[in-house]
Parts: sequence; structure tokens; C-alpha cells
Amino acid sequence: MSYDKVNTKLIHGGIPMDEYTGAVNVPVYLTSTFKQDGLGVRRRGYEYARTGNPTREALEALIAELDGGLAGFAFSSGLAAIDTVLSLFKEGDEILTSENVYGGTFRILDQVFSHFGIKGRLAHTEDPARFAAEISDQTKAVLIESPANPLMEITDIRTISDIAHEKGLTVIVDNTFMTPYLQKPIELGADIVVYSATKYLAGHSDLVAGLVVVTTEELKERVAFLQNSKGAVLPPFDSWLLIRGIKTLGVRLDRHVANAEKIAAWLDENSDVKTVYYPGLKNSAGYEINKKQARNGGAMMSFELTEDHDIAVFFEQLRLIMLAESLGGVESLICHPASMTHASIPKEIREKVGITDQLIRLSPGIEDVDDIIADLDQAIWKSRK
Ligand SMILES: *Cc1c(COP(=O)(O)O)cnc(C)c1O
Repeated sequence: MSYDKVNTKLIHGGIPMDEYTGAVNVPVYLTSTFKQDGLGVRRRGYEYARTGNPTREALEALIAELDGGLAGFAFSSGLAAIDTVLSLFKEGDEILTSENVYGGTFRILDQVFSHFGIKGRLAHTEDPARFAAEISDQTKAVLIESPANPLMEITDIRTISDIAHEKGLTVIVDNTFMTPYLQKPIELGADIVVYSATKYLAGHSDLVAGLVVVTTEELKERVAFLQNSKGAVLPPFDSWLLIRGIKTLGVRLDRHVANAEKIAAWLDENSDVKTVYYPGLKNSAGYEINKKQARNGGAMMSFELTEDHDIAVFFEQLRLIMLAESLGGVESLICHPASMTHASIPKEIREKVGITDQLIRLSPGIEDVDDIIADLDQAIWKSRK
């Protein structure tokens, strides 16, 4: 039977059962190596578990199918996935990234790949004309995040892909915030999609993982080679947990987004709140473009409390929502970009780009939304100076 609807794919996609036993879940294959039946004779192609493991393979087939790509690859973290993709490039190459690219992506380009002659440069992917002018002769790729963190800027993925492809660049999209349930970058022109699966895909704040999806035979071969050569593979148990998480991605995200929409609307009407950054709000800058390329505004948002609120008191007073890095888990998490995720950026620059000391980033969980709003309400009230 064939099927093409996403909620069915989430559950039956990839390798849906164990051929050997009929188990409805692919088991955790805890083995480092595989017996060969003779020289060069391998059952189902496996030889050594860094190169290939059946549990990991089920996950890799699943993410490739969900994203509409040719092949998937699983890594020990989102950054290991990004590291592997950036290793496709060589000395003298330049990679442009969205201006508010994930801090770890900026850091690995700025402080690791720079040592090997691969240069990262921040570009304005949210402004196509500006982006076109930023491409140089050395530019070989663009890495897009949409929405980008923490101000949730939206990039028109199709327009930027078209401009990039005209100049022969590889288009990489970090789709962590949206997942293939809400946004499918390959349909919009991306050549490679990367994920921190630690976030919504796993969804329970219980594992660290990364995924890559590619679209061509050449990229499939080169990423498989790099995955095996660099070796930062996702272990079998974590692969199994991630498959388990992905099965409920649709129902979880439906609730995450419904909660986010209610919370954003509530914040938007609240006089204690100066600005709300949420692409699902009709008055947000990227609303129209996001609506064109994604199912909805996703669940991540940021907001700024007015100056007559003490930010430290606000965080101290929260009772339900937990102060923590990361996002995308079933529990609501909140953070303070200026002192946490974006602390390494000097204050003047932070203020200039809008990451003020009053800015708060919220990852609404799937709790009852009234409880989340009540917690925000009482903490906002108590933080008034
Ligand atoms: C968390 C995150 C990463 C890094 O992933 P890890 O799993 O923490 O290594 C990369 N990109 C984005 C957008 C992220 O949110």
C-alpha cells in the first residue's frame, strides 16, 4: 500500500518493522560488528557499525522520506551533522550564513573551519537583493535558518535558493525550528537539510542528535564517506529513541503551535510587553513569506518586557516554565538570549540587532496553555519595578 500523507509517514516511513522477527519496531541493534559469511559476503550489507547499523539506518531512511530527499544520515549531535556538511568544502571556500545563525554554527566556522581556510561570513538572507550582492567569487554555499533565532526572522527559501543556484552555490537549510512537518526545504530548493534532532524531532529533552538529508547521488556518496571518515555517528539506542520521538511529531507540533498561537496573541495584547517576535502573528515582519513556505508560524517566539520590569525577578518567579537552554521539548522552556545563547556577542552589537537585555525566548511546551499563560502572567506582574 502506498501512502503520501505526513502523519502516516511519521509512523510508517523508512523501515517500518523488523523483517527478521516481525517486531513492529526496528530493534536496538547493539552490535559493533557483523559476521561475514565469507570473504566479501555480507548479510544485508552490514560490516562495522560506524559505517552502518540497522537501527540507525531505519532512522536515516525515515528522515530522508519525511524531507523528500534521496538519503538521510544520523549524527551524535546537530553540530556533528553541521560539522560533517561543512567538511564538504575546502580551503579557499566561503560559506554565507543567515545573520542570526545558530551560535554553535557561527563558532565552528569562525574558530574551527577558519583554521583550515574555510571562511564563514554573515549575510542577509532575509533580504534577497542584499544577499545577491554579498556573494563573492569564493562563495560556495549558503546556510539558511528560517525562522532564525532569537528574533524569528524569515528568509524566503525559494528566492534565496534561486539566487544561490544561479551562482552555482550549494543551498543548506538548518530546519531545526520547523521540522519536515511544518516546512520542507527541499521542495523550496534546498540541496541539503540539517537538523538538531535534539529539539522538536526527538521532542522530549532526553537526547542529543543530528540529522542530514541530501538530494543527489553525489552528495549522498560524499556525506556517507564523511560520516564514516569523521565517525560522529548516532548510537543505536539514541537512533531508536529518535524514531520513537518522530512518530508523535505531528500530534506534538499541533499542540505546540496551538499553544504558541494563543500565548503570542496574549503577549501581543499585553501592555507589559513591548514587542513580540512570532512569525505566526499577522503583524510580524515575515508573516506573508512564512505563510507561503511553511504550514504555520511554528512554536518558537521571543518577546520583550517593557523597561519597568526586572528581568531577573521575572525568571526567578516562574513556577512552571523552566529556565534552560534548548527548545522543542514537551515541557515549556524559557531563556534569556542576552546572558545565555547570545552572551558571546558584545552588548552594543546585541542591542543594535535587537537582542536587548529585556528580550526573552520562549519554547512553549504541550502543557495546558492556560497554565503556561498564568505562569507568565504572575511572573510578569511580580517583576514590575
Ligand atoms: C540546537 C541547535 C543546533 C545544534 O544542535 P545540537 O544538537 O545542540 O548539537 C543547531 N542549529 C539550531 C538551529 C539549533 O537550535
